[in-house]
Amino acid sequence: MKLKGDQTTARAMNRRLILNLLRREGPRSRADIAAVIGLSPAAVTFVVTDLLEEGIVLEGKTVPGLTGRRPIPVDINYEHALAVGFKLMVDSVECVATDLATNPVAAMRVSLAGHDPDKVADLLAATVPELVKLAGRPDARLAGIGISMPGVINHEQTACVRSYRFGWNNVPLAALVAARVHVPVWLEDDTNAYAIAQQLFGLGRQHRNMAVLAVGVGISCALVIDGKLYRGANGAAGKFGHTLFEEGGRLCECGKRGCLMAYHSELSMLRRWREATGRGEELGLPQLCEALLSGDATALALVADSGRGIGTALANLVNITDPEVIVAGGEAVSLGDPFLTPLREALAARTFRTAPPLLPDWEDNSWARGAAALVTQKIFDFESSGGVTDIATLGNVRGSTSAA
Ligand SMILES: [Zn+2]
Repeated sequence: MKLKGDQTTARAMNRRLILNLLRREGPRSRADIAAVIGLSPAAVTFVVTDLLEEGIVLEGKTVPGLTGRRPIPVDINYEHALAVGFKLMVDSVECVATDLATNPVAAMRVSLAGHDPDKVADLLAATVPELVKLAGRPDARLAGIGISMPGVINHEQTACVRSYRFGWNNVPLAALVAARVHVPVWLEDDTNAYAIAQQLFGLGRQHRNMAVLAVGVGISCALVIDGKLYRGANGAAGKFGHTLFEEGGRLCECGKRGCLMAYHSELSMLRRWREATGRGEELGLPQLCEALLSGDATALALVADSGRGIGTALANLVNITDPEVIVAGGEAVSLGDPFLTPLREALAARTFRTAPPLLPDWEDNSWARGAAALVTQKIFDFESSGGVTDIATLGNVRGSTSAA
């Protein structure tokens, strides 16, 4: 996606301020925008005219007032284009097509037979036209594709530097997909992408500092600090699941022993439950939820233990980063109060200040929406760039990312 003008110019800054105001607050007149942001009405009109021409904003209807004509409100045109989001999991891909507010208009799940990068790219590319067709909007422009996966992703949001679950090192997945579909493609760690969606349109919309805890196959905690996702020096921030829980303890997927996720991820809880009951793979998450509902003492004790384990570790993170809220997502959220109550209690017992509220996210498609949010955030947050956006120079992008 080409953006007008130099992104460092005042005009680009004003664009971002105006779009973010409209995203947070809804439709506003030009005069209101100028008053809230503190820009001159002329500067606002200048930028809004550009945005109208590009189709990114549209003019609403005037509200008839008692004293004659009211100013015309402008709003973001969320129907302007479609975004496609893919959440890569170990054996399947959750796929959505959304509007630019990440509202799904089509969703499907495809299974993943293996992790060969070219075959994964083939599969994703083949799914795009199916999703667009399913969305029933043949004339809509495809603004881009966002892909999320568990792993460390480079700052350019193009390549997977390392993923234990996929066995990948320096895989330029965004370029592989862009070469097949010819639209901009962004790649991001799944919890980071989920956090971006929560920040833009979810539970974190009004918060500039938040933690986004994910407890599923792994455990991670993305951090939004002063309104911006914190990626760290190497894109490896938020790997909360690999903090130490027990010295020399259970083996983790990262090769080290005693990591938090080796005990308390959803997968590890199931493993420990099978060990405790002497049963096998027939015990999955639905069975664990049923056992909790029926008051099974072993299941209740195990899940409470994991809630406490995560809550205590989370308190350390809260004491360092001081978030306003913690959004919690991932499969383990479906364990409900038997998991969340001990987690909240352990958190409250160890935080320096009053513990921030922990808000569970129950939405089914939040994660695939997170992937789609990688596309839409480029419209709302021009500070973050990256992704494979210039299809004409794709050869160069492939070369540079594979060397990363
Ligand atoms: Zn680990």
